[in-house]
Amino acid sequence: DDNRVSVLGLGAMGSALASALVRAGYHTTVWNRSAARADALVAQGTAAARTAGDAVRASRVVVACLLDGASVHEVLDPLAGDLAGRTLVNVTTTTPAEARELADWAAAAGIEYLDGGIMAVPAMIGQPGSSILYSGSREAFDRYKAILDLWGASEYFGDDAGLASLYDLALLASMYVMFAGFMHGAAMVAPAGVSAREFAGRAAPWLTAMTGGFDGFGAIVDGGDYSVEGQQSLEFSDLSHIIATSAEQGISTEVIGMVQRLIQRQIDNGHGKEGFARIIESIKAPG
Ligand code: NDP
Repeated sequence: DDNRVSVLGLGAMGSALASALVRAGYHTTVWNRSAARADALVAQGTAAARTAGDAVRASRVVVACLLDGASVHEVLDPLAGDLAGRTLVNVTTTTPAEARELADWAAAAGIEYLDGGIMAVPAMIGQPGSSILYSGSREAFDRYKAILDLWGASEYFGDDAGLASLYDLALLASMYVMFAGFMHGAAMVAPAGVSAREFAGRAAPWLTAMTGGFDGFGAIVDGGDYSVEGQQSLEFSDLSHIIATSAEQGISTEVIGMVQRLIQRQIDNGHGKEGFARIIESIKAPG
């Protein structure tokens, strides 16, 4: 019965996923280690299972939204027999290696496995802008697409169960470095009496406009020729005035200095006339 879904883990994210399911009319069974967390969802119309095993046996598709890979094993290892013949959609954040290991564990137990990386915060679930990346079983993705789409735009990346997680972590890596860049800018102007919110108002449209350059960088990186005309050269991308000003403002130069080092390594290797995109070579081959 594909109208039945079970959700294991009712933290902030698991609760948002279960809530979207019950609102869409699915017969939703929920389980959480600390039982009290199910109360709000029961009030919305879900059925609370007494044990994780009861929740697994209630539905053909079981969603796990626990803390980490270890907690997934802790909850599901004793239930492998009950999960056999069912589909496990694991949206718990794991490393790619953990996702592959879970996929192997599932395959050995006769469980269909789909791994998901959630690119949203709980309040965004079911709202525009929420996206979830999946990899693993194509059959599971296709069969349960209607369920997955309730939570956000769902996209399938391939049968390597670790790929969704790899993408997820790569996107988060880009985000954290961008956030650190914003913080650096805010720290630079702070001694001049500019508030961080005032700076945010300028930085947001600026950075948004700059993302327009990603595709061009991508084309150059994929083409493997960093000498293509029209690029800003590494030599021209000298950040010393930014570093000097940061020091004058009395702040750390760690964030901006990191970028300068990636540039410098390519210049030192004789590539100063080539384009800025070449810093990816510094990242690919750690110094
Ligand atoms: P919470 O900290 O709110 O909830 C964690 C959940 O995991 C709780 O239900 C907790 O149960 C359960 N849990 C932890 N350890 C165990 C264990 N050993 N056995 C059984 N249950 C356990 O986290 P979130 O809901 O925010 O996140 C859940 C997953 O979703 C994580 O992997 C997170 O990385 C991912 N995610 C979260 C996002 C977010 O913005 N919140 C964004 C993208 C992904 P109990 O209540 O009993 O402690």
